[in-house]
Amino acid sequence: MSARILLVEDNEMNRDMLSRRLERKGYEVAVAVDGQEGLDKAKANKPDLILMDMSLPVLDGWEATRQLKADAATKTIPIIALTAHAMASDEQKAREAGCDDFDTKPIELPRLLEKIQALMNHDLSRAETPG
Ligand code: MN
Repeated sequence: MSARILLVEDNEMNRDMLSRRLERKGYEVAVAVDGQEGLDKAKANKPDLILMDMSLPVLDGWEATRQLKADAATKTIPIIALTAHAMASDEQKAREAGCDDFDTKPIELPRLLEKIQALMNHDLSRAETPG
């Protein structure tokens, strides 16, 4: 069984492109199109890691992260914040919301994969080597 990633991203092009690239690296990818759907799918499916866009409709990524990290059932799932704004204040804000790591768009896949693998290896009980 491959490691499962939940990608929460409202931009269809970014979502399709990143999910395809992650699948090619051997990950099983589920997608959500807004923060509320991300929250619901995280609770229902317990992914191994969440990639969370911060600027999302319905519920933004900061609030969705706060709710996931406040819930005993989901708080151990690593979350990597994705934001288009490469500002130090955004990284700080994401970390304050409970994000475990942070990356900026446009995505550089090798850099993001390193962060994904570091967080998955951190929790050995959940870790899987992508194929
Ligand atoms: Mn967005």
